[in-house]
Amino acid sequence: MKKISSTKNLEELAETLNTLTPEQIEEQGYDGLNYPIFSLLELMDTTEIWSYDDHSVMVLNEEGKYYLDPRCPECGEASFHCECEGL
Ligand SMILES: [Zn+2]
Repeated sequence: MKKISSTKNLEELAETLNTLTPEQIEEQGYDGLNYPIFSLLELMDTTEIWSYDDHSVMVLNEEGKYYLDPRCPECGEASFHCECEGL
């Protein structure tokens, strides 16, 4: 079983979580609110965001799989929380 705590970047975290069942994730001591974070650039709005790095946020798709979505280069928020329209 892949270890969540040993993931080194956001991509690896998403890949690892996608190989684990919810029970396995819980067994490793994670509840979805305490996944590793790979950035010091905090988000104002973390709604629907499970982790992030400087360039991307990790979100869940409709199939329950994690994937990365780019952060707005202007405000740093997730693209779906960004209000920089027109830039
Ligand atoms: Zn923005």
